This record gives sequence, structure tokens and C-alpha cells, in this order.
Amino acid sequence: MKNIQAHESVLELIGNTPLIKLNHITSGMKGSFYAKVEAFNPGHSAKDRIALYIINEAEKQGILNPGDTIIETTSGNTGFSIAMVSILKGYKCILAVSSKSSEDKIDMLKAMGAEVHVCPAHVPADDHRSYYEVAKRIHEETPGSIYINQYFNQLNIDAHYHSTGPEIWEQTGGQITHLVACSGTGGTISGTAKYLKEQNPNIQILGIDAYGSVIQKYHETRELDKDEIYPYRIEGLGKNLIPSATDFDCIDRFMKVTDEDSAHTARELATKEGLFLGYTSGAAMQGIKQFDEEKMFTDESVVVVIFPDHGSRYMSKIYKDEWMEQQGFMDAEKEAQKPITYV
Ligand code: PMP
Repeated sequence: MKNIQAHESVLELIGNTPLIKLNHITSGMKGSFYAKVEAFNPGHSAKDRIALYIINEAEKQGILNPGDTIIETTSGNTGFSIAMVSILKGYKCILAVSSKSSEDKIDMLKAMGAEVHVCPAHVPADDHRSYYEVAKRIHEETPGSIYINQYFNQLNIDAHYHSTGPEIWEQTGGQITHLVACSGTGGTISGTAKYLKEQNPNIQILGIDAYGSVIQKYHETRELDKDEIYPYRIEGLGKNLIPSATDFDCIDRFMKVTDEDSAHTARELATKEGLFLGYTSGAAMQGIKQFDEEKMFTDESVVVVIFPDHGSRYMSKIYKDEWMEQQGFMDAEKEAQKPITYV
């Protein structure tokens, strides 16, 4: 048929996300700030990029054949993206997820046809119940399967090197001075940073880490300090081990943010910028506020922040007042008395 303007499938819509200027939440700060809003991917997160890239590479190398099984450990987003790509390419998808993942996320994975195994969040990575160990075991027991292993897969970095990095360079006309990005597997920040530093080595790469994670301390000392590890609530940010998908050499600074500040800042992104985004987007924005307090930016700074996913995945958490109260993040009576304000 002629003149039908349609995409072959949602896979064609992965990447090329918009850059959106932040106009209100940044008031009083020096510099201009732009958000790379990854919620515009069809799977609503940056993980669409790595799912498609890694599966395409595995097909090219002949290690993935029709009807095979794709296995992964995931806080939810990578799982959703792999499930989506698997459906469209005819693979079975099995996911081992952390019990810290929101119920919404787990239900979404099932809706996308994935087989989901929920594993306890607060056990060491080498415990047989951890989602790493469970995924490894399923991989060993399933013939014709591949294990994506995003924390230790170089292709995770390459996916962002070939897409997110060039997009940001082009969208800013090469004027970017600072990149701010969360670090979980480290794939997003490392791949994007690698590309941007090749274009201009002066670009400052600023990573965001969580209190309770080992990443920032490791960046400073190159040693894993187990005393840094304790439970925290932000999903997808920070780690209790050192992922090889993080290239620590291309990151200039890390900033730690709290669960509470990040939750409030995510809510602020919605009410001030009309951006309804995930917990780590709040964390990244909170990191910018803290860097601004340190006078990191000048009037000439062109700061790009990557916002990893959409707010719909956190309805039962940061966007639910009861949850915020249970965490001690919100005083119910004080909130109720607040007048509605228009910014
Ligand atoms: N935010 C969210 C919501 C995530 O799921 C992840 C992935 N763990 C990240 C940020 C961090 O991205 P990366 O793994 O590429 O460091």
C-alpha cells in the first residue's frame, strides 16, 4: 500500500529521545540545563537502547537463534526492555528481579510476556538467593539461552557510546560542558562519557550515586569498602559491588544523594517542569542541586542531565503520599495544610 506513514514496529522508535530545557527547577542556578528524557523510549526507559543493541549484536555473532531464551537480572527497566525486544524478535525472556523493585514494575514485566523470579534484595551478591546467582543458575540449566549480564557486559557501554553520546553531542551542537548521569551498571554514564570525551576532553562527567552504595568511594580509592553498604530505597542507582560496565576513568566526580531528597526532587520535576519521571531522575536532579551548591557551574555552563525512566513505574512509591509518610519523608498534616501553588 502507498502513503501509509507507519513504523515497522516500536523497535524503530528506540533512541533519539528529546532534549528538554529545564526552566523552573533550576531557577537561581548558574548555567543552562537540559534534560535528556529517556522516558520517551517506547519501553519508557534508557534500557531500551541496551536491550536492542545487545540482542542485535548477539544475533550478528550467531549466538542467538530463533526460539532461544534471553535471561537477565534487572531492577525492572532492563527486564521490560528485553521482554519487549524479545516479543518482537521471537525469543523467550526469563528475568530474575530484586524484591526491592516496585510491584508495578514486576506486573509490567509479566504483562510483556516475561517469566519473572523475585529474589531477596538485601542478600550479598554471591548468596545463592541473590538475583545474580539465580539468573546464572537458570542460564546453566536452560539450553539455547544467553545471559545478558548487564553489570559485566561491555556491550552495555557500547550501546550508549553509539547512541546516547552522539545524540547529546549533536543536540547541543557540541556546546555541552557537563554531563550529569546516574550510575547503576554504569553503562549509561560510561558509554555516553566515552563518546563525549572523545569529542571534547574538557567536558566534565558528573556521576550520581546513592548513600548505601560503594560506587563513589570506589571511584576515589579504587577499593571496595563494605562499610559503605547498607539498604536504601532508590531503585536502579548505586551498587553493592563494582560493575565492570562502569569505566571509572572517564568519570570526573561522583555525588551521593539521599532517598528522601531524591523522592522530593522527583515530585518537584513534575510540579515545576511537567516532567513525570522516575526516582533516579529525582536523584540526578538532586545531584545537580548539590553540585550547584558547591559552585560547580558558571553562567557559561551547558549542563545535560540524563533522566532514565518514567514516573508511572513509581505510583506505589514516591508518588503515593502514604508511602512517603511511611518512610518518614512527609509530614501528613503539614502537607494537607499546604495551599495549592501554581509555579
Ligand atoms: N535509573 C534507573 C531507573 C535504572 O533502572 C538504571 C539501571 N540500573 C539506572 C538509572 C542506571 O543506569 P545504568 O545502569 O546505565 O548505570
